[in-house]
Amino acid sequence: MKSPIRNFFYPKSICIPGASTKELSIGYEILKTIKKFNYPGKIFPVNPKADVILGYRCYNTIFQISDQIDLAIIVVPKRFTLDTIEELLAKNVKSIILITAGFKETGEEGKIREREIVDKIKSAGARMVGPNCMGVINTLPELNLNATFIAEEPESGKIAYLSQSGALGAMILNSLRLTDVRFTHFISVGNKADLNENDFIRFWQSDENIEIITMYLESFDNGFEFIKPLMLNEITKPIIVLKAGKTESGMKAASSHTGALSSQDKIVDALLKQFGVVRVDNINELFNTAKGLESFPTPKGNRIAVVTNAGGPSILLADKIEKEGLQLAELSNETKSKLREIVHPEGTVNNPIDLLPGGNEISFPQVIKVVLEDDNVDAVISLFVEPVMVKPMPIAEAVNDIESDKPILQVIMPLPEFWDDYRKDSKLRKPIFRNPEDPAEVLSNMLFHSKGKEKRARFKSFNEEAMATIGIGKFNYDSGFIDQEKITEICENYNIPLVEEILIDADKINEQRIEFYPLVIKGINENVIHKSEFNAVKLNIQNSDELKTAASQISNSFKSQGYIVEKYLLQEFVETKHELLLGGYRDPSFGPVIMFGSGGKYVEVMDDTAIRSAFISDEEVVEMILSIKMGKILSGVRGESSVDLSKLANIIKSASQMLIENEKIIEFDLNPLIVDTKDKFHAVDIRIKFS
Ligand code: ADP
Ligand code: MG
Repeated sequence: MKSPIRNFFYPKSICIPGASTKELSIGYEILKTIKKFNYPGKIFPVNPKADVILGYRCYNTIFQISDQIDLAIIVVPKRFTLDTIEELLAKNVKSIILITAGFKETGEEGKIREREIVDKIKSAGARMVGPNCMGVINTLPELNLNATFIAEEPESGKIAYLSQSGALGAMILNSLRLTDVRFTHFISVGNKADLNENDFIRFWQSDENIEIITMYLESFDNGFEFIKPLMLNEITKPIIVLKAGKTESGMKAASSHTGALSSQDKIVDALLKQFGVVRVDNINELFNTAKGLESFPTPKGNRIAVVTNAGGPSILLADKIEKEGLQLAELSNETKSKLREIVHPEGTVNNPIDLLPGGNEISFPQVIKVVLEDDNVDAVISLFVEPVMVKPMPIAEAVNDIESDKPILQVIMPLPEFWDDYRKDSKLRKPIFRNPEDPAEVLSNMLFHSKGKEKRARFKSFNEEAMATIGIGKFNYDSGFIDQEKITEICENYNIPLVEEILIDADKINEQRIEFYPLVIKGINENVIHKSEFNAVKLNIQNSDELKTAASQISNSFKSQGYIVEKYLLQEFVETKHELLLGGYRDPSFGPVIMFGSGGKYVEVMDDTAIRSAFISDEEVVEMILSIKMGKILSGVRGESSVDLSKLANIIKSASQMLIENEKIIEFDLNPLIVDTKDKFHAVDIRIKFS
């Protein structure tokens, strides 16, 4: 049998329960679109009250259909959905799109009904898209399937698009004649009650008609399932994600710094980057990047040559090139002298190469060909603003015709009628960008994808090994923060460098003979999370008298706030050079994540932290350290020597490993992890929370 997911895009027969004779109803419009685009398979509309709809024979019940049904698209009113689904399952239909709305999105009752449907679907071994969605498109000529109620159809290309929002899907289809994006597959997934982005990514990876995967998401259904196939290098095709909901606040339930500092969006952002998923900021960047990947070779490097007839726009482009981490290529002397022979004497042969308003269909391609030959150039951007005396169409065509294994992206800023002419008359119809900044964004995303892809291939076996260690840890304590003895035990097990310390029952503090000074005394009560706020940390204690005084001050301070000191923690006083933060957090969706940053009392204010999945290789740990300001300081500025970054990397890695191995640890915090004046590391304040 064909896979149920394949049948969503490649059905040979479609049943439409809820098809309708009423114009402008969804049940009518969807059938009308299917007909309009000449779907060649069989269509079985179902409606108890109609015999013919739009020329198709209409069945009064599902059971009247004797043929096999590859795909059912349900548009019946909400109250009939469950019965309809039962009938379809009884008829052995395995792929169902439930367009009908009114489920989880409406509240508790809808959620229960949605659950009921999913249970039925699952126990029958079927799969469902939706509810609350707007259908599917497959533009391949052998399918010509547009089962949405939008009568615009994309051209066939290599791009697949998944939309969590119906409206955004509709908007994209509505604007096709302006954007010229070619979606081969389009699916609106609505509430994602059963199938979600993770299922379709795997499917598209295996579908040879698709080369680029794009999606608009509002939530990740199971973030770990999203990153897992990337970690295991099972996905090689580019994934471009537009994720809404960037403004979510931090995790309210989290009590550690890591939890509080890592909003869901920061985690999403960090992990998509880590595993090479292109995240875009808006719909234009999504389209442009997809078009870039579809139509142009990936640049080998980031050195860009700009050929233009316009000053201002090329400055905007140059700014964007820098902002995107690309560079304006340094042209060789040979290139420059060749250019001097072509370029107007008042023009510029330095990059950006300015041909002045006289630049035309002869000089643009001539100059572009010269710069393409320069080894210092990885990609060319041609930027043309229409002046009165030069027409854009011949230039567009001449530049399109240049063959090269380096990408040549064109921006044309013409009079509006150009776009229709281009669509009608262009021979190759390569994408043309509308804003001077667009190609820089596109090239940078293309480079990001190709680097991410290489990285995934490189880390595949590392990730496989790391994944095999999930849950093998032996630590399993009751839920809540664990006490100091258990912390010590766990840290010793994972080589986390504890400061020299002893723990003393509060009533024994005056009897204890202390051998090491100077020291630090801390009052411990399991309900006190931030000790400094209770004046419970006294630093640089020199002798037993000072110790006694400090202990009683701490005790009084606790008492005044209604607590008692349970224990005193005495630690070696570390001569501090830097305070770092190392934390971990088990995200309910994405799994174990770690955070590294500037630590101490001012973490929130400094806001100098980096997040990664705890599945992090040696190479990435170093990259993580150096990605923040504190990392740059640690690696030595102003003549200071670098601290031993490999030692630090090892600490970060083993703390990550602790989180991976012990699934009951939901948060941990080392704040601060101190670097002392001799560049040794000491974790002086550790909290670990079990779920
Ligand atoms: P809390 O975070 O609960 O307030 P900490 O144990 O982190 O308490 O101590 C607060 C601050 O005291 C630390 O950020 C650090 O600056 C300093 N400190 C704590 N322990 C030591 C130590 N052993 N040596 C030097 N400084 C320390
Ligand atoms: Mg602390």
